Amino acid sequence: MRIRWAASTDVGRVRDHNEDAYLTGDPLFAVADGMGGHQAGEVAARVAIDTLADAAPQAPGGAERELPDAIRRANQTILEQASGDPSLEGMGTTLTVLLAGSDRIHLAHVGDSRAYLFRDGELRMLTEDHTLVQRMVREGRLTPAEAEIHPQRSILTRALGVEGDLEVDQASHEVHPGDRLLLCSDGLSSMVPDREIRRVLDEVADPKMACDALVEAANQAGGFDNVTVVVVDLLEGEEEPPEEEGRRRRRGGRALLWLAVSLVVLAGGLLGARNYVLRQWYVGIHEEHVALYRGIPTEVLGFSLSTLEEETDLPADAVRRIATWAELDDGITADSEAEAREIIRQIEDDLRSGMVMPS
Ligand code: MN
Repeated sequence: MRIRWAASTDVGRVRDHNEDAYLTGDPLFAVADGMGGHQAGEVAARVAIDTLADAAPQAPGGAERELPDAIRRANQTILEQASGDPSLEGMGTTLTVLLAGSDRIHLAHVGDSRAYLFRDGELRMLTEDHTLVQRMVREGRLTPAEAEIHPQRSILTRALGVEGDLEVDQASHEVHPGDRLLLCSDGLSSMVPDREIRRVLDEVADPKMACDALVEAANQAGGFDNVTVVVVDLLEGEEEPPEEEGRRRRRGGRALLWLAVSLVVLAGGLLGARNYVLRQWYVGIHEEHVALYRGIPTEVLGFSLSTLEEETDLPADAVRRIATWAELDDGITADSEAEAREIIRQIEDDLRSGMVMPS
């Protein structure tokens, strides 16, 4: 099985800083939601994620023992740092961890950051919140519906940074290709009903776009809290080499692509090249507007290796003046349609935020 993942985090619409943190370190994924005065919550969440990244197992074997141990080590580290610095006193955090294996996943968690499984159109929560309202639901004093909107719903009964002896919940689940896993802080789950989360996971196939859509939904609902989401898609097939990120590497990728195209053209003729390049995407210019193309921005023997898919209304002239996008004229290549559309979205953001230099 192969996995594909993405994450998004946002401060929300009310708070002035983001005390959530996350980890996407295949096969280990985690979300932490910090709490504490001033910047202490940020420190607690960061310490939890960093300790976890160092201490947690990198393979499923022994995860039942090692994942909770890693969380307890994070707890100790937070307690130690808090006791040595009065400004960090009382800091704490949730921590929900996913270790993805080839046919099983392991989960370990403390607090109310959740893990969900989306399978065959259905959304299932895999963790139980360590909150006062959840305890009351269990005792029959509240209904789940009442708990969902209870004003005290974020009061935790368990967190890292509270006491030395920490109970960690854990579980192991069988997984199949097609399964989609979601980790999130309560900034999502307390703002957006499960049916809406389900709808987004069902409708938005690209993991990064799904993450962004979930964050957007939380903000649309009021964005009262920091919101963090990690989506992990389990796919059929072999592991791919790690995806390359960033514009510098993308450019390197283009040089390789050139070489590949030249070789294919030499070896197999234009038809072969065209089949190959039509799986590529780039952002370029059409009639002085930013446009989405399928293919690569070049011609071979006068034969265009791209087709125009969509022209936007973003003026090329304004975009050229933003240093980051100066190579728009040459075409900015992407590995997928989603990535190309993300580039267009970033260009749009940059334009809107007034990054245009005076001409
Ligand atoms: Mn929160």
